[in-house]
Amino acid sequence: MKAAEFGYLRPGRMEEALQALAAGEGAAMPLAGGQSLMPMMNFRVAMPETLVDLAALAELRGIHDAGERVVIGAMTRWSELMASGLIAAEVPLLARALPEIAHPAIRNRGTIGGSVALADPAAEVPAVLLALAGVVVLRSLAGERRVAAGDFFLGHYETARAADELIVALEVPKARGLRHGFHEIGRRHGDFALAGAALAVAVEGARVMEARIALFGVADRALRATGAEAALRGAVLGDGTALDRAVAALAEIDFAGDIHASAPMRRHLAGVALRRAWAEGVA
Ligand SMILES: Cc1cc2nc3c(=O)[nH]c(=O)nc-3n(C[C@H](O)[C@H](O)[C@H](O)COP(=O)(O)OP(=O)(O)OC[C@H]3O[C@@H](n4cnc5c(N)ncnc54)[C@H](O)[C@@H]3O)c2cc1C
Repeated sequence: MKAAEFGYLRPGRMEEALQALAAGEGAAMPLAGGQSLMPMMNFRVAMPETLVDLAALAELRGIHDAGERVVIGAMTRWSELMASGLIAAEVPLLARALPEIAHPAIRNRGTIGGSVALADPAAEVPAVLLALAGVVVLRSLAGERRVAAGDFFLGHYETARAADELIVALEVPKARGLRHGFHEIGRRHGDFALAGAALAVAVEGARVMEARIALFGVADRALRATGAEAALRGAVLGDGTALDRAVAALAEIDFAGDIHASAPMRRHLAGVALRRAWAEGVA
């Protein structure tokens, strides 16, 4: 199929882009890398009246060291993130997840802001942001607001972003001694995950002080596995029973079933992903 007719704007200034979104009253959509939006338009799942192409807005690009945090411009492409020494050194969980996202051709165009805006429940980065307590920076004509990742992803392709807001950046706290683990299970490398786990864990001596566990591909959105986190808090590394309790606690999650995997299968795979992520980065 081909896309329905649409208008196209390529603003050179942020103000123009925000004005176009506000004037569209919900019928104008930002265009980033187009890797998801163009197929959605061709299938007529998305039918914007106007596309507001963000490609000329240089201020939306780039990766910056902001002291305690790393700030990533929304239009930064996957391939740019993979090549970044700052991301490798300071946000290793994100660096670990990036090669799992799609394929090289898609990573050369797709952007981190596009992925966060889309909020695919099986996408890797929403879970990474949840595990790292990241923040989404949004801007509209009314000003800027910062939304914690935990408050941003609301449901199936649903976020706290209003139609007249642009995601301008993602803020991620630096790793600061946390241990990280990541594991994703899919049918083929580069496919969206059937289940995956992203972990950020604070360890003192041999004791787990804090564990943040985010799952993706398992429900209507990326989510924290709070029961599993509680089971691991205070555990001694190497104590397999704590990990068993954490995996058992995943039962509290409302796992989704679809043509790719049933809910019980997803629950099983989430447990496997959690164990492997833990073994890779924490234990
Ligand atoms: C074959 C295939 C496999 C893929 N596999 C994976 C995978 O394994 N993991 C994964 O995470 N992704 C995967 N993707 C998706 C890919 O990562 C996309 O790049 C990403 O989801 C969207 O980024 P984009 O820049 O292309 O956004 P676009 O397609 O341009 O936009 C996506 C949506 O976000 C909105 N948007 C974009 N930028 C902004 C902004 N700054 N502010 C507000 N709204 C904005 C758009 O209006 C649109 O609704 C895959 C895609 C394909 C085609």
